[in-house]
Amino acid sequence: MIKEKEPGKGRNTGKKGFGSEPPVVCSFCGRTSQEVNSMVAGPNAFICDRCILSSVEILRKEISAIRHTEKVAEPSFQPRLQSPKHIKESLDQYVIGQDQAKKSLSVAVYNHYKRIDAHDWSPEDEVVIEKSNILLIGSTGTGKTLLAQTLANLLEVPFTIADATSLTEAGYVGDDVETILARLLHASDFNLERAERGIIYVDEIDKIARKSANVSITRDVSGEGVQQALLKILEGSVVGVPPKGGRKHPEQQLININTKNILFICGGAFEGLDKIIARRVSKSSMGFGSKVKDKQTGYDPEILKLVAQDDLHDYGLIPEFIGRLPVMSVLDPLDSTALRNILVEPKNALVKQYKRLFEMDGVELEFTEDALDRVVAIAIDRGTGARALRSVLENVMIDIMFELPTLNGVQRCVITIETIDKTAGPIYYSEDGKERKIA
Ligand code: ADP
Repeated sequence: MIKEKEPGKGRNTGKKGFGSEPPVVCSFCGRTSQEVNSMVAGPNAFICDRCILSSVEILRKEISAIRHTEKVAEPSFQPRLQSPKHIKESLDQYVIGQDQAKKSLSVAVYNHYKRIDAHDWSPEDEVVIEKSNILLIGSTGTGKTLLAQTLANLLEVPFTIADATSLTEAGYVGDDVETILARLLHASDFNLERAERGIIYVDEIDKIARKSANVSITRDVSGEGVQQALLKILEGSVVGVPPKGGRKHPEQQLININTKNILFICGGAFEGLDKIIARRVSKSSMGFGSKVKDKQTGYDPEILKLVAQDDLHDYGLIPEFIGRLPVMSVLDPLDSTALRNILVEPKNALVKQYKRLFEMDGVELEFTEDALDRVVAIAIDRGTGARALRSVLENVMIDIMFELPTLNGVQRCVITIETIDKTAGPIYYSEDGKERKIA
């Protein structure tokens, strides 16, 4: 049994005491436990941390020499790269609508990993393909995070989500950008090579815009400071990361992560951006401007699709930051048809998940058409996109799932519009097809 010996315990103190324990000495280098950080004890021997480290180094060299002579390639991490068409088709299985965003993401991601491969094969190539980080613009609950997460799953690359509002400039209280990289490292089980090809989704990127763009004296520097900090990792640099996250600590060993090949997908709702675009467009074309003002809502959602880099600058993003997000895509607001599809169509649609859970209790679950329509109507009222679907359904299903496992003889459970409105429970049927009344 090998165990770690605490430094200082049973050490050779140099003094001869009454009944003192024999000194603990490394059986390899002869150092005492006082001279090293830790000592591992075997049945009849000790080894100090220094000797362990140099043994590891010797073994590493031997293994690499064997690999070299046997021409065995180092195992290298490659994301599962598919064609843009394949990527889009796979996204279609999980994300409803958002065709344009899915298309541009598929191409951007394909090019991104192709670019890495190209550089691996011929690092001397004069044509350097630049990294294409992505900006997703769309209101809350339209699928921005889902798109980024699904892409990472498809490509089998590590993935992490960061909230831009929790980020601070270096030196202030809050997360700093190193924390994001530490999380990515964690998501890749501390495999540095995998982490360096991962995807980071930065949410609420619009919230770090300067509050008063173009106002040079009273401008809000906090947002700009965070943009500068993010810029550093977006454009590609080597960052010393404390593996456990948190603040850098003088004694903590840092892992150097190169962010050159990490793909950043930034997302935000950019409330008010439509007005900035409308102002610019109406200045340059009266026709479009008047069409915009005619709309009851004050703007046409289509106007967001005309977004240009200048508009983002006016919104409060600094030009260098915008420059590092060359792929821009606007997500569509989700209408009732899209929400209805989201409930039932995706591979892991909510309704499919509940059906599966019930099936495990031997019960067939059904939703009537008008029950699903009611869920959608309530979700639309909440104005948080598809995000509300889960909470509306969960609120209804929790009571049913609480009861169900203790109800005997139920074979089918039907959720009606009344169940959603909580004016009646679900209708249960027993194995003989007869309705089973629940007291
Ligand atoms: P956002 O990041 O745009 O605020 P999310 O991607 O976090 O929104 O979406 C919240 C939830 O709503 C997701 O977990 C997903 O279940 C659902 N959802 C949102 N948009 C879609 C979509 N287009 N297709 C399928 N599900 C969606």
